[in-house]
Amino acid sequence: MHQLVGYHRPKSLAEATGLLESPNRMPLAGGTTIVHDGGGHPVELVDLQALGLGTIATNGSHVELGATATLQAVLDSEMVPDAIRKAAKADQPSTLRTLATVGGSVGAAEGESLLLAALLVHDAIVNFADDQSAPLAEVMSNGLSPGDLIVSVSVTTGGSTAMAATGRTPRDTPIVAVVGRRNDDHTRLAICGVGPTPQLVEEDSLGQLEPPTDFRGTAEYRKRLAEVLTARVVGELS
Ligand SMILES: Cc1cc2nc3c(=O)[nH]c(=O)nc-3n(C[C@H](O)[C@H](O)[C@H](O)COP(=O)(O)OP(=O)(O)OC[C@H]3O[C@@H](n4cnc5c(N)ncnc54)[C@H](O)[C@@H]3O)c2cc1C
Repeated sequence: MHQLVGYHRPKSLAEATGLLESPNRMPLAGGTTIVHDGGGHPVELVDLQALGLGTIATNGSHVELGATATLQAVLDSEMVPDAIRKAAKADQPSTLRTLATVGGSVGAAEGESLLLAALLVHDAIVNFADDQSAPLAEVMSNGLSPGDLIVSVSVTTGGSTAMAATGRTPRDTPIVAVVGRRNDDHTRLAICGVGPTPQLVEEDSLGQLEPPTDFRGTAEYRKRLAEVLTARVVGELS
């Protein structure tokens, strides 16, 4: 619910963080989730597009994805690990991919986002404008606070990855999806479609999941999918 009553386009990070100190303002990235419907408290938008936060860079072992890098830029960059590129493509159709951003995806924290799952298994760290950083899993579980401004998301590279998903059709948002990454004999698994946000899980603790029930599947069905898809991913990685 958004009642949009103002628009700012800061030209520097300092100006943006200053504007966001006011609790009635929120960052605007691709704007794919921010729609005026007249509800809620009046909100002013702080457009991030002039801040130069759209670059993608690597030092070999890490890749830094700028907060306003679009999902299309992520897909196009050969610096980005394959699983993240594939997930960026799967999450959105091309029209939305050219708008939706890395920072906006973290802010929206959609429970069915394959991109967020792929970032999780690549040990994503979220970097904020005030020089603080936190693991993506922590940021999603705590949620963003008013005034928080993501400047980039860093991921580690390397390892082998696998993905398995079940949806109503091959291109539909999966009902449940699992992304895995094996690196240095350690396997990280992240699951979408079983909670409010994608989450890191251990193979032997899938029984503790408490998925939602909706028109696309009951909690029991989603739990079973989580087990079957995890087994497929683990099998592919071993
Ligand atoms: C038709 C449609 C289909 C969709 N399908 C999917 C899907 O399949 N999977 C999926 O995951 N999502 C989906 N989405 C949701 C959405 O497109 C994505 O989550 C998208 O990546 C959001 O990015 P954005 O740049 O547009 O963010 P915005 O809409 O601009 O912002 C999203 C939130 O994050 C905050 N934010 C943005 N940037 C920052 C920043 N740098 N620092 C702090 N906070 C920030 C904003 O204030 C806002 O609260 C869909 C949306 C639509 C309209």
